[in-house]
Order: sequence, then structure tokens, then C-alpha cells
Amino acid sequence: MTKLYAIYGASGCGRSLIPVARQQLLRENNNAEIVFIDDALTEITLVNGHRAMNYQQFLSQPAAHKYVQIAIANSAIREKIANKLAQDNVFLWSISADNVIFMDNIDIAEGAALSPFVTVTSNIQIGKCFHANLYSYVEHDCIIGDYVTFAPGVKCNGNIHIEDHAYIGTGAVIKQGTPDKPLVIGKGAVVGMGAVVTKSVPAGVTVVGNPARILEKK
Ligand code: UDP
Repeated sequence: MTKLYAIYGASGCGRSLIPVARQQLLRENNNAEIVFIDDALTEITLVNGHRAMNYQQFLSQPAAHKYVQIAIANSAIREKIANKLAQDNVFLWSISADNVIFMDNIDIAEGAALSPFVTVTSNIQIGKCFHANLYSYVEHDCIIGDYVTFAPGVKCNGNIHIEDHAYIGTGAVIKQGTPDKPLVIGKGAVVGMGAVVTKSVPAGVTVVGNPARILEKK
């Protein structure tokens, strides 16, 4: 049974993650091909040494089993593509860099992308299609929803709950909660780069600064 692996998105995020994808397969002694999927393409071309094609061309490839990492930072697009893949019986593919550190009792759903130098400590639950970019960490007793995105260098301390579709910007620091009262980042909230989050953030808002405050829309 032949297998085909793909990185969906051949822009910045995808081109950063394809080396991680190669590491993933090498660790598994799997010499299957990894291609890019990008819907902006009309014909099959080469991107960074890998065949690149649109989704219809990917579906018509002869492999029996297909696995896709959705390497697009926008979480709404990740969800839309994940639903399309499920309908077409294509599997979500999780990838992690060789130097990612995983400690104890970690449950990560399918489709995750963990970049180099990411650390995930103990007793952690993470939903579908999580992206943790370079040097981010997730400390103990965190619960992270579906389609959550960490830019590089996010410091997510212990007892934090992050709801679906939240986006945490580069270098943000989130204060630890307690087992009785976790710090909650609400659904779809955006934490700006460099923010120092000291208390829970409501769903849908953007917070910036130190201490992080809600950015009012003008
Ligand atoms: N894209 C796609 N199908 C979609 C939405 C996006 O193939 O339904 C591709 C798009 O053509 C682009 C990439 O995904 O090449 C997203 O790139 P962008 O630079 O916007 O984001 P990033 O790579 O930073 O996530």
C-alpha cells in the first residue's frame, strides 16, 4: 500500500514546516514522498525540492493512503481544509521536529505541527491542528482547544486553558493559573506579540501590552 504525505500551503508556514515533515518521516524510517498542496497552483511544479500541486491534483495521485499537515497559520482556513480532508478520507498528519521535548501524560489530537525547540511538559491536553512555532513551550496542566496557533517563542505557563481558534503572538508570556482557577484565553482571542497576560482574556478580543489590556476597536 503506497502512502503519500503532504504539507498544505506552500507559503511561509508551509516552507518552514516541510523540513520538520522530513525529520518526522526519517525518524519513522519512512521513505515516502512529501509534496506541497497549494490551491494557487495550476500545474505541478517544484518548491524547495518537493513536487507542489493543487488539491485536485493531490487527490488524483495514485497513493492508497494520504496524510496532510495543514501548514497555514490562519486557523479558520485550517478548519475549513480539515473538514474538506475528512470528507475525502484524507488523514490529518502530525509532525514534530527532532528536538521537540515531550514529557509525561500528553494527549495531542491529530494534525499538530511542533517546530524546532518546542517543549511540551506534563499532563497536557491539546486539540486538533495545533501549531506551536519555534521555541514555544506549553507548561504543566494546560488544556488547549482545536485550531490554536502559537507564533514563535510563546511562553504558556502552567494551568492555562486556551480555547479553540485562539492566536498567541510572538514572544507573548501568559501567567500561570491555579488548579482551581486556570487562566483562560477565550475562543478566538488574539494575544499580541510580546504581551504579558496576567489575567483571563474574554473570547474574541485582542489584548496587547504589559500588562495585557483589551485593544478597543476604533
Ligand atoms: N491556500 C490554499 N488553499 C486555501 C487557502 C490558502 O492552498 O484554501 C494557500 C495559499 O495559496 C498560500 C498559503 O496557503 O500559498 C497561505 O499562505 P500565507 O502566506 O497567507 O500564510 P502562512 O504561510 O503564513 O500561513
